[in-house]
Amino acid sequence: MSLPKFDLLQPKTLQEACDVLKDNRNGSIRILAGGTDILVDIRRKIIPEHLPRCKGCEPGSLTAQTAPPPPKLLVALSRIPELKGIRIVDDEIRIGAMTVIAELCQSEIVKTHLTALYEGAVSLGSPLVRNRGAIGGNICNARPAADTLIPAVALNATLKLQSAQGARDIPVSEFVTGPGKTKIQSDEILTEIIFKIPNNRSASAFYKLANRKALEISIVNIAVILTLDNEGAVTEGRIAMGAVGPTPIIALEAMKSLIGKKPSDDLLSKAARIAASEAKPISDHRGAMIYRREMVEVLVHRMLNETVNRIDLIKGC
Ligand SMILES: Cc1cc2nc3c(=O)[nH]c(=O)nc-3n(C[C@H](O)[C@H](O)[C@H](O)COP(=O)(O)OP(=O)(O)OC[C@H]3O[C@@H](n4cnc5c(N)ncnc54)[C@H](O)[C@@H]3O)c2cc1C
Repeated sequence: MSLPKFDLLQPKTLQEACDVLKDNRNGSIRILAGGTDILVDIRRKIIPEHLPRCKGCEPGSLTAQTAPPPPKLLVALSRIPELKGIRIVDDEIRIGAMTVIAELCQSEIVKTHLTALYEGAVSLGSPLVRNRGAIGGNICNARPAADTLIPAVALNATLKLQSAQGARDIPVSEFVTGPGKTKIQSDEILTEIIFKIPNNRSASAFYKLANRKALEISIVNIAVILTLDNEGAVTEGRIAMGAVGPTPIIALEAMKSLIGKKPSDDLLSKAARIAASEAKPISDHRGAMIYRREMVEVLVHRMLNETVNRIDLIKGC
């Protein structure tokens, strides 16, 4: 199936791009980043995510829906230099929305300070996809299994959205409202993903469970960050779970069970069990609900252990 016809604009500044989007109330203008999601989506007549897949699929996911009409105009962000790159500014790491996944994989800053994001980026797609796909596209596409979205949620990132009216910030954990749905307005552009640099008693980890090692969407993905105090007790952290609900899920109760305590294997097992009870998986062609829930328990336990080991290594214990 060939692509539908559309016009393409390639603004050279953010201001120019915002001006084009100013009158986009009906959403007929769409943003083009790397195109690895949107160019696939606009070819489809039916959104396959809504087709019946197997016995046990949630009733709500069984209705065939026609895809929205294709855009009349695509605004490409690839020629806007200010949307690219990874910078440390004071105590923050700022990643431009058009930074491609491959750059995250090569960045020492990301690998050192935002390890879960690094591990998510490395596991995304294939070299071809990582060279074209941008972190902003992965987040705005809002798939519950997206491999940089889940680490960004665990790492408590803030998104900067810009329109001709001005800029606003929104926590990534509040951004996604459903599969493919976000709180971004049709005249807004995601410009930056901002992370506080975790302190030196913190570590993070990410794991993607998939049927193959490359070019595969997660059955479950888990990102964890933990901070320990001088005595080794957990002071704060986050567990983000992907592909087990319509949006990324934060295991709040599991994290509460860890706060103020020293991580023992028993404690981490209990937290992982609580996290599994907080997941809301469905059955689909990638995995059954019961399997996903079990895998949440296994992988949360594993990632909690991994982060604790990494903090011990940082401290040189
Ligand atoms: C073969 C293949 C394998 C893949 N494997 C994986 C995988 O393993 N894991 C995974 O998570 N994903 C995977 N993907 C999905 C995809 O590659 C990623 O989601 C990618 O990061 C999307 O980025 P993009 O720049 O291509 O976005 P685009 O396709 O250009 O855009 C995606 C959506 O975001 C919007 N958008 C993009 N940038 C902005 C912005 N700055 N402001 C506002 N809106 C914006 C677009 O309008 C569009 O709706 C795969 C895709 C393919 C084709």
